[in-house]
Amino acid sequence: MGKKIEISSKGYEDGSFQPYEFKRHAVGERDVLIEILYAGICHSDIHTARGEWGEVSYPLVPGHEIAGRVIGVGSKVAKVRVGDLVGVGCMVNSCQTCSTCSTCSTCSTCSSGEEQFCEEGKTVYTYASKDVFHGGALTQGGYSNNIVVDEHFIIKIPNHAELEKIAPLLCAGITTYSPLRRANIKEGDEVAIVGFGGLGHMAVQYAKSFGANVSVFATSESKRDLAFSLGAKHFYNVKNSEEMQGLNNRFSFILSTVASSYEITEYTKMLKVDGEIVIVGVPSLTNPATLDATSLIWSFRRKVSSSLIGGIKETQEMVDYSVEKGIYPMIEMINIDELDQAYERVLKSDVLFRFVIDMKSLK
Ligand code: NDP
Ligand code: ZN
Repeated sequence: MGKKIEISSKGYEDGSFQPYEFKRHAVGERDVLIEILYAGICHSDIHTARGEWGEVSYPLVPGHEIAGRVIGVGSKVAKVRVGDLVGVGCMVNSCQTCSTCSTCSTCSTCSSGEEQFCEEGKTVYTYASKDVFHGGALTQGGYSNNIVVDEHFIIKIPNHAELEKIAPLLCAGITTYSPLRRANIKEGDEVAIVGFGGLGHMAVQYAKSFGANVSVFATSESKRDLAFSLGAKHFYNVKNSEEMQGLNNRFSFILSTVASSYEITEYTKMLKVDGEIVIVGVPSLTNPATLDATSLIWSFRRKVSSSLIGGIKETQEMVDYSVEKGIYPMIEMINIDELDQAYERVLKSDVLFRFVIDMKSLK
């Protein structure tokens, strides 16, 4: 090992994808070299590639829903062996040791398994992120043939899992599983999922599996029957004002995955007293979701909170749970040359429900 790994990929620049060759950092003693077999397309990839969350450097290789096979390990790697199936999500490193206090096991820090909240500010995201552990170079993501990742950030995939469907779990899965678990959703709870795309259709399945009565809010009428087939009890077309009447005080928990502009208090008023809405959708800076304080107060007493992916321990738990329960995304497999069209189709909600790139198509 020791030498930098040559990478083929597709990088985003000037509004479209082009072939792009670069080098990954060398495989260190605790690093794992993975041949990427499948990569999901998350809406965050599009927001980032198009600079909707702020300036980025190009060429940019997105992709943080990665499934593949181990093809090399550093001398001190104990977690996986060559040949194992593995996944990589939104993070590839963090300080791994920070702790808010020495006695509390519930602080959200690296040492309690929430590496996305690294107190040292050293969370390294899978792409477009400064890799402070490798000279500050910007990371490049999973639309590529190989990746090198610290073993701590590897998710183990059981051999019998449907690998191409595992990829989207690494972001869409954990981002929805985590807040639903934290909310302790249980039998009979009235839960609403707003936005029925890549994240939303996973959220419906998890909420249903925890025993909730699930309602879906979406703009695509064509997805009504699919919502029922994935376990929803009710479907509300947000464009149909009649369907949106009479829903006040209905839900104990709402998860919003909407990727574009909307007014959050349209949903807070649907919560029961002390009910909670968790926002995971991150619209663009120029077309943000809004929260009107006056309407919020007149929603009486409701909780509005947020959630960011989930830690590595919980991501492993989510993958194991999903495989055990047979909870998988619905996917459409594409070749790498279809990336530009796929991005346009995601923006039109024209995919059921996640694109996954077959990385064999990357020459
Ligand atoms: P998708 O595009 O797959 O899904 C979003 C869905 O929202 C669309 O399919 C559309 O579906 C629906 N929608 C659009 N406008 C409305 C509206 N006004 N009301 C209700 N539904 C609407 O995106 P993803 O699921 O991949 O991602 C969703 C968001 O979550 C993105 O902003 C992404 O960046 C963010 N994200 C956040 C993470 C976190 O850690 N917090 C992690 C990953 C992603 P329909 O046809 O049903 O209307
Ligand atoms: Zn994502």
